[in-house]
Amino acid sequence: MTGRLSIVGLGPGAPEVVTPLASETLAAATDLVGYAPYLARVAERAGQRRHESDNREELARAREALDLAAEGKSVAVVSSGDPGVFAMASAVFEAIEADKPAWRDIEVTVVPGVSAMLAAAARVGAPLGHDFCVISLSDNLKPWDLVLKRLEAAASGDFVIVLYNPASKARPWQLGEALRLVARHRASSTPVIFAHAVSQKGERIDITTLKDADPSRADMRTLIIIGSSATKIFSGLGRLFVYTPRHAELAET
Ligand code: SAH
Repeated sequence: MTGRLSIVGLGPGAPEVVTPLASETLAAATDLVGYAPYLARVAERAGQRRHESDNREELARAREALDLAAEGKSVAVVSSGDPGVFAMASAVFEAIEADKPAWRDIEVTVVPGVSAMLAAAARVGAPLGHDFCVISLSDNLKPWDLVLKRLEAAASGDFVIVLYNPASKARPWQLGEALRLVARHRASSTPVIFAHAVSQKGERIDITTLKDADPSRADMRTLIIIGSSATKIFSGLGRLFVYTPRHAELAET
């Protein structure tokens, strides 16, 4: 009997942001597969098996999950945020397409989750209210020159820019270069948001500007949002809000 494989988004961290569909899918699984810190967010259930893996081994993890499903298990692969945004869902489809024909009979579903950018945007107001581009700054899976090419296009297109994977111990300088590139197209007063560990312990949200943005404040658990020429910071109700209006004009960039 061929089993089932669901790729489930756990949201940014807090249990109340996990969707009911994600909770139901996790509860129905016989086997959970994923990176240990993400599995730790899922309540233990008697009789359910857990298969922990390293964060870097996405394709190996996808193959392990597919093998379990091919044996007839109901497998849930967990991802943080949304599983289709820089996460496991693509790895599963890549493995199915490239590897064993038997995997093509598995019933695969993707269960969406609240991606970090949506949770971060909600904390500060509505910075993603108009057109935006989402770019991963990691050059583990693509050349840095491609990152620069896409950043240049997004910056010259006057998009709000969301940066996932802005920095890690192994990639300390990329964010500084990215901010300098965007600053060539945008006013120094452009709003920049550093959203660290959104909806997790230690959450910190900093609202700053391109001129004052300090790249050393970002790490692997930070997401960056850089405003477009229309994005505004205003203070009301005793705190700062950032939003991008619903209308836009052709700006000089
Ligand atoms: N699938 C995930 C993204 C995985 S890539 C999603 O949809 O959110 C990993 C990157 O996501 C991190 O380097 C960071 O930039 C961002 N991220 C994930 N969770 C976050 C959180 N709770 N707070 C801030 N950034 C987060």
